[in-house]
Amino acid sequence: MAAGTGPNMTIVYRIRNNIYLNITNRCSSDCTFCVAKFADRFQGHTLRLDREPSLAEILHDLEIEFLEGPADEVVFVGFGEPTIRLDEVLKVTEWLRLRRIPSRLDTNGHGQLLHPGREVAHELAQAGLGSVSVSLVAHNSEVYNQLCRPMFSKAYRTVLKFAEDCLKEGMKVTLSVVDLPEVDVEACRSIAERMGAEFRVRKLLTPESGEVKA
Ligand code: SF4
Repeated sequence: MAAGTGPNMTIVYRIRNNIYLNITNRCSSDCTFCVAKFADRFQGHTLRLDREPSLAEILHDLEIEFLEGPADEVVFVGFGEPTIRLDEVLKVTEWLRLRRIPSRLDTNGHGQLLHPGREVAHELAQAGLGSVSVSLVAHNSEVYNQLCRPMFSKAYRTVLKFAEDCLKEGMKVTLSVVDLPEVDVEACRSIAERMGAEFRVRKLLTPESGEVKA
């Protein structure tokens, strides 16, 4: 079951043993490979939001979803960059921590650029975030800028720094890339290994992908 505030708008959804949170469609990147460019749905759930849900709506839908059964992990993901709504991410993470439910953030790593003056990795750790999956995307800033078209000029360096900060805060960190011809996957794997992070290669989703058509 998926909960949502409108008939075709999903904020909270479940895939296998995980619960996923879709809290914004805004993003600080404009990735050439972004699923949101060509799809409104993912794995049968409509992730295109009519409007952003309030914190109360997110928690309400989470509670309803947990009535369906427990989850291994709750993941901030969706069609947008969750840290754009950092305060909501922190409050939901605290809500989960109080219930001893593991949480993960899937992020483009721009949180510190989006919230200058704050200590984003530290605040996330304090709230109880257990793990972070950071989209490294590329082996250098030139390819990163070409593929992600970020709104910030120094984004790539900040993504690496954010991942390092999360590691220092004791979170489990995974760097991820999409399997694209422009990307030197082995160089990216080396960056993750040197940093002490896990590494994951994600497959490219297209309009023909089963996950999108479902
Ligand atoms: S960071 Fe993620 S949500 Fe944002 S444009 Fe890139 S793929 Fe899409």
